Amino acid sequence: MVSHRRMKDRYRRLSYLTDIGGMMNAIGEMKGKGFPKQPRLNTEYRARFDDPVFNEAWFIQTIRDKLANHQDNRMEYPYYGERIFDEPLVGFVRGDDPILLDYKTIIGAHHFTPQEIMKWQADRNGVPAPAAGDLSVVSFVMPITQKTKEDNAARNDWASERWAQTRLLGEIFSQTMVREIVTYLMSKGVLAVAPDVTPMFNKKRYPHVGWASPWSHRHMAYAAGLGSFGMHDFLITEKGCAHRVGSFAVNLKLEPNRQRTGDIHANCLQYQHVPCMKCKERCPAGAISEQNGHDKEACMQRVSSSLRYCNRNYHIFIYGCGLCATGTPCQSAIPEALRQTPSDRDK
Ligand code: SF4
Ligand code: SF4
Repeated sequence: MVSHRRMKDRYRRLSYLTDIGGMMNAIGEMKGKGFPKQPRLNTEYRARFDDPVFNEAWFIQTIRDKLANHQDNRMEYPYYGERIFDEPLVGFVRGDDPILLDYKTIIGAHHFTPQEIMKWQADRNGVPAPAAGDLSVVSFVMPITQKTKEDNAARNDWASERWAQTRLLGEIFSQTMVREIVTYLMSKGVLAVAPDVTPMFNKKRYPHVGWASPWSHRHMAYAAGLGSFGMHDFLITEKGCAHRVGSFAVNLKLEPNRQRTGDIHANCLQYQHVPCMKCKERCPAGAISEQNGHDKEACMQRVSSSLRYCNRNYHIFIYGCGLCATGTPCQSAIPEALRQTPSDRDK
């Protein structure tokens, strides 16, 4: 990223006006605008003998390689060159998995199925929309580094600087990485789409639902068996709950490689009747309680108000918090009392 070079030795000046990446990211997330053009499907493509086989192993290795080697998986000044994310977890959901339709009820009617989002991509490219059974969702969890988690765990008011950079640069990296994979697949004649970089992705307040987006990476990760939800609504995975999650849909039949927990709260101590509520203690907004779990509205207000703090102190245009995801027993792993045998590793 060009800005990495510019930001190598100093902070950005007048960041409210000059952090273009941050502002574009915010507009994209809230309004579904400002994303780069979608790649076109290469309908003329004829398979070559040296083409990779686009199977589960290819997606796992490709995403691992991107996190290990991509120049955008890096922090800005004053942490220039530090990695943002550690080695990822990767899982798959078939497009006709009944849970994806259940999300229309659980999350809301506004939430897309992979088939709906893929139809949008198919229509743009003038090809027939694939059936649900011919699609899969690739879901990945990118764990935040130990240094960043420690920094945030030491805070009790606003997000640490490493955490704020991770929120902004990590999201930009995630979108860049997925766009590269989607573009490559499309160039090889495989229809694919990253829902959160299309104009259909806008976060807004939905009736009876509150603030939500039409494609929940977290719910896709749960469906792919990558973790389950905590009191704080973050996904608790075998690498903890301090992470960013991403997903995209492909016109391929990929086999699920992980066992989904039947209980959506299987990895949370409090939900499993082991007294905890450490996340509640960590929340400066009082947005988590035993009775009501996570109050999304109270959380959103606190997180939104952090924009000013991050801008003034860290010179980037981003909001963030994550205090309840750090300094807790679920920060970096499934809490010990709930850990089972590691039978669900990547194949
Ligand atoms: S801190 Fe405790 S109660 Fe809160 S999500 Fe983690 S395990 Fe659950
Ligand atoms: S993200 Fe921050 S405001 Fe929201 S619940 Fe967690 S600690 Fe509270």
